[in-house]
Amino acid sequence: MTAAMSRTQVGIVGAGPAGLLLGRLLTLQGIDCVIVENRGRSYVEARQRAGVIEHRIADLLRSAGVGARLDRLGLVHNGIYLQFDGSRHHLDFKDLTGRTVTVYAQTEIVKDLLATELPVSFDVTDTRVDPSGSVLSYVDADGRPHEVTCDIIAGCDGFHGISRAAVPGRTEWQRDFPYAWLGILADVPPSTDELIYANHPHGFALHSLRSPTVSRLYLQVPPDEPLSAWPHERIWDELATRFALPGWTLRRGPITDVSITPMRVFVTTPMRHGRLFLAGDSAHIVPPTGAKGLNLALADAALLAEGITEFIRHSRPDLLDAYSDSRQEHVWRAVHFAVWMTEMLHTAPDPFAAELQRSQLRYVASSRAMATSLAENYTGY
Ligand SMILES: Cc1cc2nc3c(=O)[nH]c(=O)nc-3n(C[C@H](O)[C@H](O)[C@H](O)COP(=O)(O)OP(=O)(O)OC[C@H]3O[C@@H](n4cnc5c(N)ncnc54)[C@H](O)[C@@H]3O)c2cc1C
Repeated sequence: MTAAMSRTQVGIVGAGPAGLLLGRLLTLQGIDCVIVENRGRSYVEARQRAGVIEHRIADLLRSAGVGARLDRLGLVHNGIYLQFDGSRHHLDFKDLTGRTVTVYAQTEIVKDLLATELPVSFDVTDTRVDPSGSVLSYVDADGRPHEVTCDIIAGCDGFHGISRAAVPGRTEWQRDFPYAWLGILADVPPSTDELIYANHPHGFALHSLRSPTVSRLYLQVPPDEPLSAWPHERIWDELATRFALPGWTLRRGPITDVSITPMRVFVTTPMRHGRLFLAGDSAHIVPPTGAKGLNLALADAALLAEGITEFIRHSRPDLLDAYSDSRQEHVWRAVHFAVWMTEMLHTAPDPFAAELQRSQLRYVASSRAMATSLAENYTGY
């Protein structure tokens, strides 16, 4: 079948948070775009992932006109709890930095952006980006091939996407941690008002939230752990053990989603080749301990939208030229913070490292300077 030929200003690969926010911001500027996504809409809207939004990213979503549900349903958190050695300590971000974070699920951000009626083609196959970054080709859901000539292409197709491979001569860094996160979503009111990060001899545990009636919880498990090793009863028992505190009870309820996520860092540079730009997880992955992946993806999209607008509207390439270096600076700060949090909270590799870790935890819990550093990074540096 001959390919349908068309033209647009910006071709976007991937309808995750980065691709959708980029599409929304460009549309607000009157710039044409097409978004192609290899999954179906219902899958994309239901994919369980992140949920902690930095204060400036919440403002960004509001300025993109998709903040109404966030403001109505998002849970504003003033801090987090750190638990170790049988005690729970509150870090008050509002007091330490004047800033807060908002708990609002990534699934809801995706729904909010899709509700703005962006031009997304779902269920495409065989997506390709030509090496010059000016032609995006794909086969649509009805089997019809398309070739779209673009001024700019944005690769927002996540870690497993195809865009990154079109950047030649890139440098990549990867570190895989010797553990994974088993994550559950449960229809039960959270047993805490703010997130609990727990360091326990059995391993790390995180009590997160999604809404007043839905809890999100995680357990550190071996990296090759099969899900079959974790019947629901065992998951709740282990969570109860790792969060145990006199006078505190973990509420249990029906588990609606279980997944295992490897813990890794991945960074590629540059995030650009010619007219092709990478944004979000296609260029960087950080361990979720720092709650940074979604925030980085949305911040990439915002800067890229600004650069593209300046370039297309005013023929000024300066912002686009600075995009990769500017974002790499933020990415590496987030990587450092996420690795620091990860190594402070997960099972230490040997008894010496375990003593250093406990000393670090005591220091963060007792020193205003250390707590402020954590708060500053967590709420968005
Ligand atoms: C289990 C889990 C928990 C997480 N928890 C947190 C957290 O607490 N805090 C946090 O900040 N971050 C967290 N993250 C990370 C966060 O979810 C990601 O950083 C975020 O999804 C990145 O958005 P993105 O748009 O760059 O990529 P993605 O969300 O991966 O979107 C990429 C899109 O591209 C599509 N695609 C891929 N290949 C193609 C192709 N060839 N053609 C067309 N489309 C394609 C994909 O289907 C997808 O829809 C978590 C991630 C996981 C997996």
